[in-house]
Amino acid sequence: MGQKKTGAVVLAGGKGKRMHSRTLKQYLSLGGRPLIVYALEAFEHSPVDEIVLVVGQGERDKICQEIVKPYGFQKISAVVEGGEERYHSVYAGLKAMEGCGYVLIHDGARPLVSEAVIRRAIQGAVDYKACVAGMPVKDTIKEVDEEGFASGTPKRSCLWQIQTPQAFAYPLVRAAYDWLMEKEERQAGITDDAMVVERYGGCQVKLVEGSYENLKVTTPEDMVVAEALLAKNGFRGI
Ligand code: C5P
Repeated sequence: MGQKKTGAVVLAGGKGKRMHSRTLKQYLSLGGRPLIVYALEAFEHSPVDEIVLVVGQGERDKICQEIVKPYGFQKISAVVEGGEERYHSVYAGLKAMEGCGYVLIHDGARPLVSEAVIRRAIQGAVDYKACVAGMPVKDTIKEVDEEGFASGTPKRSCLWQIQTPQAFAYPLVRAAYDWLMEKEERQAGITDDAMVVERYGGCQVKLVEGSYENLKVTTPEDMVVAEALLAKNGFRGI
């Protein structure tokens, strides 16, 4: 796995608006435990050396009291507040991770991340400096114009859906994010970390095998699917 220290930034700084719930998504009960606990546990029991948890503005004390302390996480080295967009939250996490050789960035809203996927991501970062977990798409994907008409059909065999973890050599992703944050016009349309490295240039991003179970809990029906998958796996990712 390499000699350098490996860290994980776990993101829980979003507002979860698409869940239409009064409770913040990370605290919603999944199989009787708060959703965020699953991703934290997956990294706690993985080869990563430390975890930085990123939460929303004003959420630090609550998450420390309700999640970090009671569940006894040993690898969480810092809990930091994120920002308006996902990339602001990632940047806050990266800044709390200085000194790491490799860093994995993970959506806390993906409770079914498995140790196997985490290990593949770490190996990908060691081998290629930049990698993302993903899976080939199952559906045909269409490009759609502003009037709602199909404007193109990319070849399905070339399309992957991208997940997290996304894993990088720390100096590379830190330099890419420093560059991104310098100018606002560079930030348009950024939805993942690989995009930041792609725009920064100088290193190709490798895709490593994720899992179709590694879904992002975004809307209420995702909770039903996640709960069923967790039950199937004995409440641990496979
Ligand atoms: O919004 P999106 O679905 O891309 O969010 C993916 C992950 O990023 C979630 O775990 C969410 O909590 C996190 N996030 C964040 N800070 C934001 C927006 C999203 O930490 N400002």
